[in-house]
Parts: sequence; C-alpha cells; structure tokens
Amino acid sequence: MELRPLISVLFVFIHQLAFSLQSKEQVLLDMRASGSELGWLTLPYENGWEIVQTVVNGSLFYTYSVCSIDSTEQENWLRTTFIQRRPGTSRVSVELRFVVRDCNSFDGASVACKETFNLFISEADADVGTNFRKGQFRKVATIAPDEVTKGRELKVNTETRIVGPMSKEGFYLAFQDMGTCVALLSVRVYYKSCPSTVQSLAAFPETVADALTVVEGACVENAVSQATPRIYCTAEGEWVVPVGQCQCLSGYETTGESCQACKPGYFKPYASSELCQVCPDNTRPSSTGATECQCEEGFFRSPSDPPTSPCSAPPSAPRELTSTTLSADGRLQLSWSPPLVTGGRRHTGLRDATVVVSDLDSHLNYTFTVEAHSGVSQYGTDRPTATITTALDYTDPPKVTLIHLDDRSPTSLSLSWTLSRRPPVHINHRYELMYRRKDDDGERDVTTYTVVISDKSSVQINDLTPNTTYTFRVQALSPEGNPGSYSTEHEFHTSPIAESQVQGNSTMVMGAVVGVAVILLVVVAVLLLRKRRLRSHVRGGPEDPYFSTDQLKPLKTYIDPHMYEDPNIAIQKFVTEIDPTAISKQKVIGVGEFGEVFWGVMKPHGRPEVPVAIKTLKLGYSEKQRQDFLSEASIMGQFSHPNIIRLEGVVTKFKHAMIVTEYMENGALDIYLKDRDGELPSYQLVGMLRGIAAGMKYLSDMNYVHRDLAARNVLVNSNLECKVSDFGLSRVLEDDAEGTYTTRGGKIPIRWTAPEAIAFRKFTSASDVWSFGIVMWEVMAFGERPYWDMSNHEVMKAINEAFRLPAPMDCPSAIYQLMFQCWQHDRSTRPRFSDIVNILDKLLRNPESLKTIADFDPRVSIRLPSTSHCDGPLFGSVPEWLESIKMSQYYESFTRAGITTMEQVLSLRHEDIRNIGVRLPGHMKRIAYSILGLKDEISSLSVFSV
Ligand code: AMP
Repeated sequence: MELRPLISVLFVFIHQLAFSLQSKEQVLLDMRASGSELGWLTLPYENGWEIVQTVVNGSLFYTYSVCSIDSTEQENWLRTTFIQRRPGTSRVSVELRFVVRDCNSFDGASVACKETFNLFISEADADVGTNFRKGQFRKVATIAPDEVTKGRELKVNTETRIVGPMSKEGFYLAFQDMGTCVALLSVRVYYKSCPSTVQSLAAFPETVADALTVVEGACVENAVSQATPRIYCTAEGEWVVPVGQCQCLSGYETTGESCQACKPGYFKPYASSELCQVCPDNTRPSSTGATECQCEEGFFRSPSDPPTSPCSAPPSAPRELTSTTLSADGRLQLSWSPPLVTGGRRHTGLRDATVVVSDLDSHLNYTFTVEAHSGVSQYGTDRPTATITTALDYTDPPKVTLIHLDDRSPTSLSLSWTLSRRPPVHINHRYELMYRRKDDDGERDVTTYTVVISDKSSVQINDLTPNTTYTFRVQALSPEGNPGSYSTEHEFHTSPIAESQVQGNSTMVMGAVVGVAVILLVVVAVLLLRKRRLRSHVRGGPEDPYFSTDQLKPLKTYIDPHMYEDPNIAIQKFVTEIDPTAISKQKVIGVGEFGEVFWGVMKPHGRPEVPVAIKTLKLGYSEKQRQDFLSEASIMGQFSHPNIIRLEGVVTKFKHAMIVTEYMENGALDIYLKDRDGELPSYQLVGMLRGIAAGMKYLSDMNYVHRDLAARNVLVNSNLECKVSDFGLSRVLEDDAEGTYTTRGGKIPIRWTAPEAIAFRKFTSASDVWSFGIVMWEVMAFGERPYWDMSNHEVMKAINEAFRLPAPMDCPSAIYQLMFQCWQHDRSTRPRFSDIVNILDKLLRNPESLKTIADFDPRVSIRLPSTSHCDGPLFGSVPEWLESIKMSQYYESFTRAGITTMEQVLSLRHEDIRNIGVRLPGHMKRIAYSILGLKDEISSLSVFSV
C-alpha cells in the first residue's frame, strides 16, 4: 500500500494551518499540537489505526491512518483521551482534516473497500483510562470526504461537526473505520467564546458562545452609568448590540476605553461624555481631576450660576446720580449712569437709569441712595453706592399742616398752626390766612375771603359774628413773599352769646379792637360784590346753592385770579415759569384769540423731551391783553385732572409771552368727529363723553363754572382721551365765534347756553350741565351743528317754547334720555356732573344697555339749510340732494351706478345703496333715512316735532 508518499506531503498543509487559528476559539484538544503524546487507544490493538511519524524541518508531525481494505468485516476504533468539558459549554465543535484514498485506485479493489468513517462520542464524569467499551459510544456522524485522493496529489478534506448537548464533566471521541483507506491529519476540538471586551466604557467578561446570550458588564474605573450596561454574545462568538452607556465621573474624561483625571487648569463638573474644559475667566487654576475651578479672590458665582460660568465681581457704584428739584406736588426724578465696572456680568433688566419718586413731602430734605445690584452683590464686602441729598430751599415756605383753635369767644377766634418743617431761625416767614363765613357759599357769585397777613404762626381774628362757622386756610410766605401751598380748609365756630355776655358786650368789643390792631396787618383782599359790578365779565366761583351741599364739598376751591389786585401775583402763585430756551415751536396748529397756537417740544432740564402746545401772544398787545392772555394760565394752573388740559407752564419774563400746555394730537373734538362721521361705535362716543363729564365734575367740585363748554372747546389726544380746555377769563364771552351780544353786554354762545344764563346771566354748574347736554348731542351726531341752520333767535324761541333737540341718528336711548335731562328748564332738576359720571359709568360697564336706540325721526334730523325755505319739489338734482345731506363724496358712485334722477333715488333699496359703494354704516343710514324722509314729504314738517 502506497500510504507513505501521501503522508510525506502533508506537512506543508499543517504548517499553514497553524496561522489560521481563530483567537475566539478555545481549543480543548489539538491532535497536531500534542505530538506523539496523544495516547489515543486503538482497537484492535495491533491491526487497524496506526500512528505515523513525519519530520519536517526538524519538527515531528503525527497522523493516524488505517487502510484495512482487503478483508471484509473490518471494525477499527481510534479513541481520544478524556476531554474535559469547560463549564458553560454544552456543545463543542470537532474539526477533522483527513485524506481518503479512492477505492478504485487499488488494483483489484475489494468489495470491502469503503470511503467513509464514523465519529462517535461517549460522555463520562471522569477519565476511565484504557477501559474502552464500544457500547458506551453513540454515533455522531458519518464522515465522508468531499474529494477522494486518486493519484499522488492528496485531496485533503475538512469536516466540522457540532457535538452536544453534553452535561457530564467530559467526553471521549472515537473514530470507527469499517474498511476505508484514510489518514486523519488533524483533529481539533474547540468551543467559541466572545472574548472579554470594553465597550462604551463598560467591561464585559469572556463569555462562551453557546447560543445568543445577554451579558452584563460593569463600568470601568471612574465611570458610572444609570442602568447596568449589557451586550449580546452570539453563537458565533461575536459581541453585538451594546445597551447602556457608561460616562466618566466629574473630574474625569474619556481617553479611549478608560477615564482619566482632568489635567491641571481643566475641569469637568458633571458625569458626562464630554471632555474636560479650560477653567473659565476669573478663576484660580485647578489641580488634577478638578470638578470645578474656584473663583479668584474678589470674584464670585451667584447660586444660580452654573459651575461652568466665569466668576464675577459685584458692580461698582452707579455714576452721575442727579436729581431734579422737588416739585410742589412732591415729585422728583433721579437719574444716573450705569456703573463703570460691571464685574464681568452683563446688564440685564436694566430699564431706564431713571426713576420718578412721588408722594414726597415737598418741605423735607431727602437722601437717596442708589446701588447697582448683580447676582453676586451679596458676596461683596462693601456695597458701592451713589448718594444724593435733595437740597431743600429753605426760602421755599413750609406747608401749613394743621390749624388749631386755641380760644374762642362770640366774636373772635384764636388760631395757631403747625408747619411741615421748622424754618431755620434766620429765615423769617410770614403767613397769609384767608377766611370767610361758611354760609357765604352760594349767596354770591364769587366767594369773599378776608386775608390776614401775620409774621407769627398764631393769630386772633376779631369782629366775627357770634355762633357762626368760619372756614380758614393758611399758607406760609417766603421772605420774598413767594407763597407756599395752602393748608386744607378748617372750620371753626364762634361761641353763642350768653345772657351775661350781652350786657358786657360793648366793653369786650372795645377791648378786642384795640388788641387786634397791634398784632395784625389786615388786608381785605376781595370786596367782590363791588368788584363784580366793575368787571361784569369776570367768571364767578361757586354761586349756586344747589351745588354747595356738604356732599359735594370740594377738596380745593378755585380762586379767581381777579381776587388779586396784581394779576402777576396770581400767575406767580399758580403757574410755573418755563425757561424759553427749553421750548421750541415746530408748526402752527391753530389760531386763538391772542395769537397763533403751535405744536412744539419742551425739553425741561434733566428730563426727556415732551410734545406740547404753545399758545403765543401776538406782538403789539396791550398790558390788559397780556394779563387777560395769562389769566387763562392762572386758572388752568389750579387744575389737575386727567380730563382737564394740563398746563406745563408759562413764559412771562420774555417779550413773547407763551402758555405751554400738554399737546392733544387729535385737536378739537368737533372737527375730530366731523372727520370721522359714522365711523366710531356708540360705546367709544359714550367713553369720550364720560371723560368730559369727569373733567366737568372736577371743575364743579372746585366751584369753577366754565360757561363755554362745547365740543370745539374739548381737545382729543392720541388715546382718544377728551380734555376740557378754554379757560379764557374775559374772552369766554368775547372771542368765541358763537358768542352773541346779549342786551346786557357780554357775549353768550346761545346754542350751548342754558336759558337762565341767557336770560339773566345765571351761570352755574347747572348751566354747565345744560351745555354738557349739548356736547352730548354734538358727540352723538358726529359734530353736527346743534339746531342746524336755525338762527340764534329761532333757537331761543324754540327752547322757551319747550322744544328740544331730537335724538341724533343711532343714539342709544339711555344717552338721549340723559341729554334730555340736562335740558330741564328748572336747573335744580338737572342731573349733577357726579350723577352724569355715575350714569355714564354704569352704561359703559353694561354695553348691552347702549343697544336700545332712541327713536330717530329723519324728517327732523336731516332738516338742512337747503330745505328750510323750500316750497317746491324738494331736491331738483341728485348732486343737490347729496350735498344737502353732506354725502357729496358719493356723487360719482351714484352716477357710475346710473342713478341720475331723484325718481331713481326714491326707488333705491338698502342693498342698492350698498351696491353703489356706500359701505360705512353711518353713511348708509344717513342716505337711507334721507330717502325715507323725502318719501314722507319733508317740506310739510316743522323742525321740532318732539
Ligand atoms: P384755543 O385758543 O385754545 O381755542 O386754540 C385754538 C386751536 O388750537 C384749537 O382749536 C386747537 O385746534 C388748537 N389747540 C389749542 N390747544 C391745543 C393743544 N393743547 N393741543 C392741540 N391743539 C391745540
């Protein structure tokens, strides 16, 4: 048999095999590696399998071969030594390399020649040594070659079989030859495993690859994970699908598959996959493995700052702290510049570096401290602040806070008062005390005060009426005579005359007269009953007992500037003088009686620019005109209410006197409404009326009677707030175009004036209420002229005959009822302004109440100039008709729609009007109602059908 040459060429093959072994394979048995020491059993012992030794390059190789093909009934066994099973391995791979000789290559091949052999296994818990019993083996596989060897060229076959499952400690393999010529070149028994590995900073142990197995790992040193990291080991020995990630601890960063401490100067604040960062600004350099970098001395982190943020220092003090002077109404404005050093933090939330402080006592000094705060201010050792103390002008008189009654008799009252601050000893203030009998209210047109000047803070008033209440007010005067603000009004009552006193009365009076003469300098400032006759045009103060009930007792009373002999004193008293360089006139917006009215800007020192209206006094004025011009300011200056035009101040110490007021962007109310005819909803119109009523309530509470309330004298600002204006003292009756001379002198705006004021000049807040009713009508009729084209005479006649204006179109019924109430002939039954404000408020709170519309009679409301004396056909042409209802703007639309005759107009329906292009609801209604009126033969109706 030619087996030797077959074996001699095998070594090349075996040599190559040594380098293709996979590292994941755990070898339990390797025939080639064991050399001659295999110690395998053969059975029968001498026949059958035999070991063949070959030396290649000095190395010995052994193979087992058998080639007993001559005789039948062959059964040759080759059994391995005991192979220890590894825990966790229930299956092993058996890899065989072998050569089988082709049976046909043997001459006269016997029928017994085979080309396969069998693989057997027997499990055992211990090595049984040479005790080999065939019966204990079970067959695993028949091993057949893929290619048999025919010539000299050896065909080596490799077959791998998985053997298992196994449960005992170990096993034997056996090869059964039944008459085959076979050389077993190599037998390798191994199992696969997933090698120990580190993945995503988690270490996994070596794991037997028996079937797909989940393996739990552990984070490497200095790493953590939220959930236990896992990975799968496949039967092929591969790791797949790692789950869960470990991250390096704070102070450590990833380097490959391990975590290393941050280098000095670096830090990492949290467990994360990120790398260590360089220490931020204003921190000390860190040491190895830092989790944060400590702040440098003088720098801090606020509790809300993350450890990654730079450290910052508290800001320095605000700079350039300035204050305006404390105004009489207790306000001042502080301004400053932001701190120079922000300490490394940005300004956030810094709005204006300015603040207005109000509710201050204008007679006290204040110290204000302004401090810049940042998130780290609390850590600073010192708190840099800017401080300013308002310098109180001691020549500025203190306020009289309280008047005390020290003593009283039937004819005298001894009073003293306390001050808001004690003036320094070297400043000598004087005091002006004003008093009047309380029941003087309403008796006369103008309140008569008696003025007493004293240089002490106490006084005795004599010559009073017994058992009578007097009201007192005191103000301090500076050494230069500048007045401070008035105390509130105090009331004191003289005692009644007792029996005994009546007898001794004359003696007492005598004594009092002598005593008082020494202490007091008495100035009777106003003997107004006389003065009133001299100045018939002067506006009155409280004059209607109806408005001087306790319930309406004013907080402050308006003082007629004409009470002062020198009107300049009134101006000084009530008005702020403005530096003319602070004002710049921009554009003429109107013309008043005394000159042009400009829009301009005022830039008071240290305060932002504000838009203003500037009334000027034309050149060539007389002194009287100048005083009349400025008297409006001294009236306006006494008022402070959101619905009264606010006086900013005056320029008097300059050739061109000016009155500066707040600027009202939308101008006069009548023009404003005419320009928006039909465009504003009732709710908004009623809101405007509410504002005017609130302003008028304020004026009547101050006992001021306006006398010329009309929409043209109400101004509208950009927020549509309405403010009452026009407080001209003399011009009320003289400059107003509506003013009409009455038989008794003066001019009266007839259409707006209550009958008793026209008839016998009884101007009161109740007559202002009448005018307010007319303003209500003007507003609801979008600036329509009251009583249209009727002459003043016709108007007066109609009013006296109890006719009243009809409801404007679309006017809520409740509003018409209210205006109607304002036109009650008996003034005591007209509502008060406080009632009007309440009623309007209620309506505005419940807008549903404005939905009911007052009956509207188009035949009355649209009575227009061209209709008044018209006997023939009403409107000859469409343009004439449109002009008469002030809708000329639609003429082209009518022509375009082919509506050219009045017959066509009369046949128009509601939707036809819309289709012509009339969109605004107010205009729609005006046109529709007019057509209705035309159909009803307007010419046959009288003006007032109410
Ligand atoms: P007067 O002399 O007050 O009637 O002012 C004449 C006109 O100037 C007024 O009808 C307004 O058009 C305009 N006017 C007056 N004061 C102001 C103001 N404060 N804001 C805007 N316009 C004003």
